[in-house]
Formats: sequence, C-alpha cells, structure tokens
Amino acid sequence: MPWVREEQCKGCAICVDACPIEGAIKMDSGKAHINNAICTRCGKCMEVCPTNAIRPNSENPALRGLGRGRGTGMGYGRGQRRGMGRGRGMRDW
Ligand code: SF4
Ligand code: SF4
Repeated sequence: MPWVREEQCKGCAICVDACPIEGAIKMDSGKAHINNAICTRCGKCMEVCPTNAIRPNSENPALRGLGRGRGTGMGYGRGQRRGMGRGRGMRDW
C-alpha cells in the first residue's frame, strides 16, 4: 500500500484529484494522507505526484522496524502479492 513521505509532500492535492476512490486520499494540514482501509493500491497517486512523495509500502520505515507505525493498524503483508486478482498495471508493491 502506498504511504506519503510528508516532508516531500507540498500539498498540491494532485493526488487527491487523480485518485479514483473517493476519500482514499485526503489533504490534512497541507499534507496528503492515505486511508489504507479503502485504498485499492492502484498506484495513480504515485504516478501523478510531482515530488514523488507517495512511496510504495516497501519503502515505509514504519513497516521495516525502523520506526513506529502511523496508526493505520494494517498488517505488513497485506497486498504484497502481485496482481491481487486484477492482473493489469499493478506494481510490485
Ligand atoms: S501529489 Fe504529491 S505533493 Fe501533491 S499533495 Fe499529493 S502527495 Fe503531496
Ligand atoms: S493507490 Fe489509488 S486508491 Fe490508493 S490513494 Fe493512491 S490513487 Fe487512491
């Protein structure tokens, strides 16, 4: 699942416009926040972000034991399989 590297987010909200799932990504205090409960991991937000602030799960330090979780409550491993049954355009994240 994607996560937002807040220091790189400049608050342009382009990702919000690009996201096909209403509410999956929202602006809060000038930063984008992803609701992993409804995010489908389609990758659109990652494609459009001009600062590459949205990163794949594999780069999330909170999920690699380098930091504390961000309160998502989502377990590591969910969504890690390729394809997820949708087959097309999925990234390896
Ligand atoms: S597109 Fe990138 S820089 Fe713009 S609000 Fe979204 S995460 Fe932040
Ligand atoms: S991966 Fe797709 S569903 Fe999830 S926040 Fe980004 S654009 Fe929205």
